[in-house]
Amino acid sequence: MSIFTKIINHEIPANRVYEDDYTLAFHDVDPQAPIHILVIPKKEVAHLQDLDGETMTHLLFAVQQVAKKLKLDERGYRVVINNGADAGQEVPHVHLHLLGGTKLGHIHHQDRTHTAS
Ligand code: AMP
Repeated sequence: MSIFTKIINHEIPANRVYEDDYTLAFHDVDPQAPIHILVIPKKEVAHLQDLDGETMTHLLFAVQQVAKKLKLDERGYRVVINNGADAGQEVPHVHLHLLGGTKLGHIHHQDRTHTAS
């Protein structure tokens, strides 16, 4: 069972901001921005390629609701998914990082060390 499933089941505490039948959103324990929320599906799926389209829709809907609740719409925010080893995914349970509350640095051309082959 993933650490995030334990959060869903209230076995581990989390600072929750939004929940519906399909998703849960809570504050990241190690925030990388003034606002750093994780949005996760309630079904435990490790990688994006194994997630069904309906759940993906619910995840983005949840992002919309969280951004509205935290009044981020006007200033904007970033949504990031680390998927798999190259992206440095640490928790094997799909999660969207919602980052905001400050002017975020550009991520364009962030890593030019390796080019796609
Ligand atoms: P990733 O590197 O994309 O897999 O991100 C995993 C994220 O989960 C990191 O930003 C961690 O800080 C966060 N995290 C890990 N455990 C917890 C927890 N118990 N509560 C909240 N956030 C967590």
